[in-house]
Amino acid sequence: MIEGLRTRGRYVALVFWASQLYLDEIEVFSDGLSLQDVDISGGAFVKSLDVFPFASFARLHIAREASHPVALELPVDVRYNWASGLPIYLDLPEGVLLKGPQPAEVSEIVEDGNTWRRHKIDKARVLYLQSELEVGTVRPARIVSQDVSSQPGREQMLEIETISIPRAPVSSKLRTSVAFAFFADWKVWPDAVGNYKHMGFSVFAPFSETDIRWLFMKGHSLTPEALEMIKHAKAQGLVVGAWMSPFNNNALARSAKSGPRAAVHHGTGSASATPCPRVYMRPEGEGPSEEGEIAQASMAAKSGVEFFLFDSEPDWGGTICTCGNCAKLWSEFLEKRGAAPRTLDEAWTQSKLQGWPSGAHSRLLQEFWDEFYGQLWGGFRKSMASAAEGRTVTIGLYNYPKTSDLKHQYMGGNHGRFEPLYKDGIVDFAAPENYLVRTADYGELMRSFRRHLPESCPMHPIVSCGAAGMIGCERSATDLKHRLYEIFCNGGQGYHAWSISGASGEDFRAFAEVNAAVHPYEDMIVSGKLIDAGCFTPGDSSASANGITDGKRALVLISRYGKSSPAKAIVRINCSKLGFNAARLSLVGQTRNVVLKDGVIVAEFDGTPDDFVKVVCLE
Ligand SMILES: [Zn+2]
Repeated sequence: MIEGLRTRGRYVALVFWASQLYLDEIEVFSDGLSLQDVDISGGAFVKSLDVFPFASFARLHIAREASHPVALELPVDVRYNWASGLPIYLDLPEGVLLKGPQPAEVSEIVEDGNTWRRHKIDKARVLYLQSELEVGTVRPARIVSQDVSSQPGREQMLEIETISIPRAPVSSKLRTSVAFAFFADWKVWPDAVGNYKHMGFSVFAPFSETDIRWLFMKGHSLTPEALEMIKHAKAQGLVVGAWMSPFNNNALARSAKSGPRAAVHHGTGSASATPCPRVYMRPEGEGPSEEGEIAQASMAAKSGVEFFLFDSEPDWGGTICTCGNCAKLWSEFLEKRGAAPRTLDEAWTQSKLQGWPSGAHSRLLQEFWDEFYGQLWGGFRKSMASAAEGRTVTIGLYNYPKTSDLKHQYMGGNHGRFEPLYKDGIVDFAAPENYLVRTADYGELMRSFRRHLPESCPMHPIVSCGAAGMIGCERSATDLKHRLYEIFCNGGQGYHAWSISGASGEDFRAFAEVNAAVHPYEDMIVSGKLIDAGCFTPGDSSASANGITDGKRALVLISRYGKSSPAKAIVRINCSKLGFNAARLSLVGQTRNVVLKDGVIVAEFDGTPDDFVKVVCLE
């Protein structure tokens, strides 16, 4: 685009739009200036120009069939204060509707040849938009700051492209959600339940972070609205869920304040600034105390929340804790096991030499922590089950099992192993998080988790949601879509995406497309088994095929990631190994150009990213 550009510009703007980009330093020099002449002082580092001050997208994709959120970029103090928001004017073209929040004023303005409907919103946090325009129409829009004192004239130009998100059926067996936004932001979404359900998600989780405490414990003014939304979502056949962050660093710190701070030492012998994990479960600690986190989760369960994802991030720096309490419990633990007495430090030193799981010392150390985590999450389970008065409560832990669990590595005082928690009926599903694994390797990793897990254990991996927003590790909506297919075709029974604040219209379209595409295969996805390696032999090594089968049918994902050249790939099927004679092939979702010919799968890849993944059903 800039080839042949001749200009005498005095400023240079380098704009990177990427989900993760780390730059050490960029300097731009004019002609005639050599590097030696440049004095790089502290003043050379300036805050970069914020080119997306309000929305993290230059182009918004807005659907015709349902409204969906466009989360605004909020300063931290605004984000965590539900009652606050940005004072803006939202200028929309005719045919694009603001469904929520309710604007204070609406007027018509004509500027630069554009006629806009100007919506004055005094506390904007998230916008819910819907389009009446033809699919593919692109119109300019604009957000302008009302705040003339601190942001005079600040504006962001946007393009709004109208897209189609057809209604997706909701599975009664698969568990899918996109969530992690405050209830305050869901409640301004008109018909939140209906619009969310339109996209085929089965778990409706409008509570996150500190919502549970402030909605269900303190008689907050939003409580009746929250209860009403729970009732409505259930009536619509959705499972009502919540994200909650118990036993995290803040909770540990609060627990430590309620009693004498335990002296904690790392395996290295150095003192830790973070308290012993066990302080959380003291009677007065943040876990079991009267208004503590167990009571909060139980109140939510009593109020009708039935599906919990606990985002516990105890980033405790130690591998062992050698405080007096832990030392005492450790010697009791050894005695109970009939193991020879030794101190935690001795066990730790010996375990480092032995490794896990072969080393008896490290295995004992891990089991010592497993017991604690059994008591911790078991305490939640017991109290919540009793509060739910017979209704089923489903609990999962974010990022559990971890890859270290999968590899049978010692996990230290931060974490218990997943399997004992599942076998004891404390945790109901696996929720591995592997944001940083590229999609081309993701299916193989999913199979590793599936093989590691007990057969009956559902697996709902966490995805980060989109290429923009707070955290986005998928490269694009297409990449997100491929990841979701990799989950369902490699032993997963659902997914949970955080955060809805990072989801674009294209992401919602991808979610809805996959939710609809896998719906006819939900039984196979729930009860099927991984197809053995060797059932499929790709004739072209650049393509690979994997999937699941229920013995009569198979859901197969054929991928050819990152290859931009068109190619025809063939995949031979070993039917005796597969367990049935594959006689028919049907295309799943928007998969194109795959046929079954003389018992061989023939897949024509056109080389576009959208076509890297093909999903078919064999029967
Ligand atoms: Zn301790």
